[in-house]
Amino acid sequence: MIPVSEFYNNLPKKTCARCGVVLSEQAESYKSECEDCHNKNDNYPA
Ligand SMILES: [Zn+2]
Repeated sequence: MIPVSEFYNNLPKKTCARCGVVLSEQAESYKSECEDCHNKNDNYPA
């Protein structure tokens, strides 16, 4: 049995797809970028 806390510690951290900064757990899950990049990204083709 692996303790739940270790299971979560072993999960890869979610990072910004553009600058690579580690996103906080509070980041909305559909986002793949940090707030800074997301805000700069308005005219980036999806
Ligand atoms: Zn970023």
